[in-house]
Amino acid sequence: MPIRMLPMHVVNQIAAGEVVERPASVVKELIENALDAGATHVTVDLMDGGLESIRVRDDGDGIVSDELPLAIAPHATSKVETAEDLDGIATMGFRGEALASIGSVSRLEVVSRPRDAAAGARIVADHGDIGSVEAAASPPGTCMTVGRLFARVPARRKFLRTPRAETGRVRRVIRDLAAAHPGVHFVMTSDGVTRLELPAHRTLRDRLVAILGRELADSLIEIEAVRDGVSVTGVVGTPETARPASTHQIICLNGRPITDRAIKQALREAYRGLIEPSRHPVAALFIGVDPSRVDVNVHPAKTEVRLRDERLIFVVIRDAVREALKQHDLVPTMPLPEVTMPPPPRQLFGSGLAATERRVAPTPPPQTSHVASVPVDGVRPEVRWMQVHDMWLLVEDEHGVVVVDQHALHERVLFEQVLARIGESPLPAQQLMVPVAVDVDGDAAEVVTALMPLARRLGLDIAPLGPSTLAVHAAPVLLVERRVDIASFVEDLVDRAAAMQGADDETALRDVVDMMACKAAVKAGDRLSNREIRDLLEQREAIERSTNCPHGRPTSMRLTLDDLERHFGRS
Ligand code: ADP
Ligand code: MG
Repeated sequence: MPIRMLPMHVVNQIAAGEVVERPASVVKELIENALDAGATHVTVDLMDGGLESIRVRDDGDGIVSDELPLAIAPHATSKVETAEDLDGIATMGFRGEALASIGSVSRLEVVSRPRDAAAGARIVADHGDIGSVEAAASPPGTCMTVGRLFARVPARRKFLRTPRAETGRVRRVIRDLAAAHPGVHFVMTSDGVTRLELPAHRTLRDRLVAILGRELADSLIEIEAVRDGVSVTGVVGTPETARPASTHQIICLNGRPITDRAIKQALREAYRGLIEPSRHPVAALFIGVDPSRVDVNVHPAKTEVRLRDERLIFVVIRDAVREALKQHDLVPTMPLPEVTMPPPPRQLFGSGLAATERRVAPTPPPQTSHVASVPVDGVRPEVRWMQVHDMWLLVEDEHGVVVVDQHALHERVLFEQVLARIGESPLPAQQLMVPVAVDVDGDAAEVVTALMPLARRLGLDIAPLGPSTLAVHAAPVLLVERRVDIASFVEDLVDRAAAMQGADDETALRDVVDMMACKAAVKAGDRLSNREIRDLLEQREAIERSTNCPHGRPTSMRLTLDDLERHFGRS
């Protein structure tokens, strides 16, 4: 075939392949245009998941009738004039190709009327065929209707999911854009049924609660930080609200919802040890940087961006979220089943003290052999505790009763202590009277060499003994004191080191320290002395993230006084 220039409608169709992937991408482009036009009210109506039609109406600036043909022409935009403008984009759109692309793979009708125009006008692009501008009745603003999407692009249509799934995607797109624009009223209907209604909210928090779900209202921690020209605002969820998928994460950069792996990673880092690795924190974060520090022109659908200071943004987000979590009381409360029962006839019990009065002068629990009291610093003059079933510690605090998993808490405590310690110097080692032999897969000398840097930091002295056997001459004092089986520890260490190849040093180290902490920690079933209980609980106060073990499982759970009072009909 000879080389020739492609006809314009084919060029547009190719461009459409990048911008218009499915109904949700059409909706995204049309809403972005509405927002750029200063709309305060945006309505999206879908029929059959957008496969039959998509309509986006706004009350924005509108398009003057003379400019309608240009609006749907490729590379025509009112948002960028010069190449320099690309270095500081403050609008959602700038590529001037969305409408042209949509009009090449569907029947696109644009009806618009600028606020000061006497009447409206319309134009139609039907799979690349552009009609003429006609007068049309229209309220101020713009209404875009997209029908027969991909009717002539069967390859694309094949990749679409069910109308239900496509509707879900559209809903998410609207949700994310709405999060970034709390003052704009959004409505979405699907086959005539309202699926989303977000009135203009006064505050970002109100909007986020409406979007993320009212049930999360009390579990959202506010984030607010500015550093070196990077600002982060928004909310993150408490650890127990983390989800199995990242659907409850909204990340916006300069008002634009984006997906960015580094930012997701920063969140993950901030929650490390607070949630299980397979779960994803709830988060809505709004990052602001000077537009000149972001390149939004790297992805046709503008959902990915290139950040000039990626590392800085990573650190600012990680630290802001970490700090906010640290400030927050993360002990989850134990929900009690709702009960409806009449209040107890208090006069029968004589005292009739109000709940608050009782709280000031609590009645001590019955003393058993496991109960003791020690003074600790803090709001309350003393803390009472008790070990039950050789597994749990019950502690009283100002908010209620806290149930602590002794193994999980001890594991967390050891993990933090060892990690803090190992950052400075190798862990103290103890010489073993009789070296411990460990069989390994493969060549012992190679295993020892590979393990050496880590072993040194851990206070582990290992050397090859036979072709596939190594000898342990010294082990960390912590493990020896806690009577951990050294051979099984080293076997696990060898396994992990092999599995962790390629991970960075910090991750590998944390993984190993985590294993040590787990092995050395008291187990469920261990009877603790009063002194051990006291030490453990004191550590609980002292360490950061004591609410969760290193794997993210909770170490403790609180039964609040309010819940107890409600449950027993005392409030
Ligand atoms: P871009 O948004 O990148 O400029 P589009 O193809 O999406 O490109 O839109 C082309 C132009 O049409 C815009 O620059 C804008 O001037 C005009 N336009 C599109 N949608 C609207 C709207 N809803 N309200 C007002 N003007 C609009
Ligand atoms: Mg646009």
